[in-house]
Amino acid sequence: MRRREATRPDGLMVPPPGSDRMSEDAATLDDDLRLSSCERCPALVESRSRIVDGVGPTDADLLFVGEGPGANEDEQGEPFVGRSGDVLDEALRDAGLARADVRITNCVRCRPPDNRDPRSEELANCRGHLETEIDRLDPKLIVTLGKVPSEHLLDRSVAITSESGDVVDARIAGSGRRVLLSVHPAATLYDRSQREGFFETIARSADLAGAAEGGDGQSRLGEF
Ligand code: URA
Repeated sequence: MRRREATRPDGLMVPPPGSDRMSEDAATLDDDLRLSSCERCPALVESRSRIVDGVGPTDADLLFVGEGPGANEDEQGEPFVGRSGDVLDEALRDAGLARADVRITNCVRCRPPDNRDPRSEELANCRGHLETEIDRLDPKLIVTLGKVPSEHLLDRSVAITSESGDVVDARIAGSGRRVLLSVHPAATLYDRSQREGFFETIARSADLAGAAEGGDGQSRLGEF
């Protein structure tokens, strides 16, 4: 579903209805989802050095949603580029996917101070950006990385360790979405016993997204 190009009050650009934006350069499409400025959360504006937008193809079948940028992400301007990102990249490779095949984003786009969890009002302030990204991608599967994004998108409490690997149907911004719950990749660093389950969940996400398209949706890299 494609939309009218306009600068929204929240700073996001969205394209016009019926325009064939899919045929345009991917970088231009990505620009439409870039947040140019936002001052809604005073504590985050204070602690961030930049806004960290989602990365990856705007027509990706798989969308990974984390909590919010940490120090490395704030420095480099890209989600999941620190140690958690290394684990995620490794699990994706293991599942036969390249990082460049999937879209990766966060519930909030600015680094919370002292690596605290985003507060409920900050999650709410950033919700529109995430919903626009989800609508625009229309992914086959959303993978929530950790408790915060799982609870945020499902709007209920989640016991993430026991629910990790579950696939649920959720209503997000008025549309039905398929969501795969996962522990956060950082959990595998604190607790080595979570590693196998995390890798299995990421492999499951690749299978589900591939199965949804008859197996030709994502590029699989086989043994590479
Ligand atoms: N943790 C997250 O939840 N998101 C990131 O981008 C990095 C670490």
